[in-house]
Amino acid sequence: MIVVLKKGTTKEQAEQLSLKLQDKYSVTVNSWYGELSTVLGLLGDTHKVDIDSVLAWDIVDNVKRVQEPYKKVNRAFHTENTIITLENGLKIGDGSLNIIAGPCSVEGEEQIIEIAKKVKQSGATMLRGGAFKPRTSPYAFQGLHADGIDLLLKAKAETGLPIVTEIMSAEHIDLFENVDIIQVGARNMQNFELLKRLGKLNKPILLKRGLANTIEETLMSAEYIMSEGNEQVILCERGIRTYETYTRNTLDLSAVAIFKKLSHLPVIVDPSHAAGIPWLIEPLSVASLGVGVDGLIIEVHNDPPHALSDGAQSITPEKFDATAKRIFAAKAALDAALK
Ligand code: PEP
Ligand code: MN
Repeated sequence: MIVVLKKGTTKEQAEQLSLKLQDKYSVTVNSWYGELSTVLGLLGDTHKVDIDSVLAWDIVDNVKRVQEPYKKVNRAFHTENTIITLENGLKIGDGSLNIIAGPCSVEGEEQIIEIAKKVKQSGATMLRGGAFKPRTSPYAFQGLHADGIDLLLKAKAETGLPIVTEIMSAEHIDLFENVDIIQVGARNMQNFELLKRLGKLNKPILLKRGLANTIEETLMSAEYIMSEGNEQVILCERGIRTYETYTRNTLDLSAVAIFKKLSHLPVIVDPSHAAGIPWLIEPLSVASLGVGVDGLIIEVHNDPPHALSDGAQSITPEKFDATAKRIFAAKAALDAALK
């Protein structure tokens, strides 16, 4: 349930009402002070809340029941876009376009540092690289684990690029202390115990949509993280399983527009895993701009034929340079046209 307060309501008045509602109905109240309005989000069993008596407060503009099962993720609770600010000041969700680029897996020091320097020169704002790899086969390369994270940190020290890397088990949380954004991969989107642990951190989480999960299930996974207190969640559409076999997955662009409408969270697209085909990265990235994406995550490898994972879908730093130029040009043109 949300209680929208009238314009001009002071913080003290809002807090007074909040306490009253918590006391009277044993609900949790989350206050959100936006530029245009103040909203109190009531969580818990709100059936007993007497709407007329809440409306009787003269600071209350209106009261709405929120039907959707996701609450903190819901745009009704937080009408303005969430903007996530990283340690280096980089903002995600503020209308700019962030490109996260790097290899599927961190394979060695030279590899990750060379790629980091190159993608930075081409305009990437963050570096990706898997240290813990969820592979279909137990015999395939599983990642360099803690050493992989150390190498990412070296690349960060060398280039200043914030780093994004995947966590597969809550057991490893301590290793991620200096990671800027923790990625939850598609295969772990409904690992609820992991999500709850990540919800206790004060660190952005990049939550990838599961291979066969609905939009609502994805939003509920984000709710798991937010319900524990961590409000810094970025959603990622990375393609879903369909009957189509030409592409590795099917990029669901409507999900991006829907995530933006139903939630206030930043949304990014992963055209590399969605398509599994290098030439589709540019057109899918440009198309993503049209549905309001806040960022892209693109796999870049210095030697794709010899990559230890996902070489077939990776592009070289040179190709990334040309692709990024065209994506940023398209972004500037679109922003100018839609101003
Ligand atoms: C990855 O980013 O390398 C990855 C494994 O992605 P996903 O979880 O989307 O398959
Ligand atoms: Mn990959």
